Amino acid sequence: MTEERTHRYPEFADPMVRPRYVGLPTFMRAPYEEDLSAVDIALVGIPFDGGVTNRPGARHGPREIRNQSSLMRRINQATGIDPFALCRIADAGDAWVESPYELESALEEIAAFYRRLHAAGTAPVSAGGDHSVTLPVFRGIAAERPVGMVHFDAHCDTGDDYLGSKFHHGAPFRRAVEEGLLDPRRTVQIGIRGPINDPDIWSFSHESGMRVVYMEELYERGPKDVIEEARGIVGDGPTYISFDVDGLDPAFAPGTGTPECGGFSVIEAQIMIRALRGLNLVGGDVVEVAPPFDPSGNTAMVGATILYEILCVVADSLAGRKGG
Ligand code: MN
Ligand code: MN
Repeated sequence: MTEERTHRYPEFADPMVRPRYVGLPTFMRAPYEEDLSAVDIALVGIPFDGGVTNRPGARHGPREIRNQSSLMRRINQATGIDPFALCRIADAGDAWVESPYELESALEEIAAFYRRLHAAGTAPVSAGGDHSVTLPVFRGIAAERPVGMVHFDAHCDTGDDYLGSKFHHGAPFRRAVEEGLLDPRRTVQIGIRGPINDPDIWSFSHESGMRVVYMEELYERGPKDVIEEARGIVGDGPTYISFDVDGLDPAFAPGTGTPECGGFSVIEAQIMIRALRGLNLVGGDVVEVAPPFDPSGNTAMVGATILYEILCVVADSLAGRKGG
């Protein structure tokens, strides 16, 4: 049967061009491949939400993003980038943990996954999980030198200990700076907003030298102007893109644990990510998609769309570095 169909439509030999409702839902219908030796960019799920301070559910993010990512097609119509032509891209499965009830060892398990990936010369584009997972990603890929970061979020995530824990989704970037994995002077945080209890809640960002672009400034200046400044700040050093879906207005992404009204839109996010093209990008993630809070699937579809935009600029950057 399969042979007959492939004969009738030869292009269907490539699963990515088959009808989008068929087959197993890997990320963007990329091939599933656990052997990283022939993979330039691994699409990875991190189904872990043991670091949330409010509503859990992001552990279900990767599976639903995989499902919704079937809607992605090969070529980015806006930029012309065809990531799958530029790089060998595979769904490398999940960085799942065996000890989810023990936060610190869970984060170490995730870090071990990313160390293996990094040692194979593979760049990660990941779907969380809550934002605590970006710290172990950095432990895996930034041990030899700190990375810079363009960070989209309603929250700086540079808070201090909470309820007795150093590790939670409001603190990964403070810990990353302390561990020498993130260069705060090459870090830009965009979309920050919402009511707070402590007026100095993000003092670590300001005092360590991060550039914090509050939502009001983004609204006044517009996405292109802000990203132009961000490009100058991260420069040509290795740079990571971290996208917390709660940076978007909850009108676009209600399925998340700590929503904040008054955020940016999906097209603004797409314009900002596309404008990062040409930087020295070493990976990225989309986190905090919590499908139980959005049974429509829209937040996961938005997450898949943002993941694709990140994949496009990372693939373009990687291909440029490899002379591809
Ligand atoms: Mn966050
Ligand atoms: Mn957030």
